[in-house]
Amino acid sequence: MFCPFCSAQETKVIDSRLVADGAQVRRRRECLECHERYTTFEIAELVMPRVVKRDGSREPFNEDKLRAGLQRALEKRPVSTEQVENCIVRIKSSLRATGEREIKSELVGSLIMDALKELDKVAYVRFASVYRSFEDIREFGEEIAKLGD
Ligand SMILES: [Zn+2]
Repeated sequence: MFCPFCSAQETKVIDSRLVADGAQVRRRRECLECHERYTTFEIAELVMPRVVKRDGSREPFNEDKLRAGLQRALEKRPVSTEQVENCIVRIKSSLRATGEREIKSELVGSLIMDALKELDKVAYVRFASVYRSFEDIREFGEEIAKLGD
């Protein structure tokens, strides 16, 4: 790709490593013209199932929305960006592993809950309180009780 700073065509890769459980390649590049450095990520483009919402409408799976939801729940929590990215990779591969062309939004929600439960209990409770609307009040109370320990 052209340098994003000066549009020069010649850039060199100065570092390359696997991230997100090996699902992405992160490359540091340096422009041979202006010597600015920047990072690129390479990921496989795979077809994700469509999401069927509660009202029956369908929408394409939206990774940004998933990331935003996780970040909202994890705000000010001691969880790294890399952990969040790993979590997104896992959720996406679980969704693809269903082999379905369409999946219910509830499934996405429960995968997020499972992931957060492992990652950070506070974030889990935050997400659950919004997502489940206190449907499962007993389990919820138990989680809050555990936080107090
Ligand atoms: Zn440049």
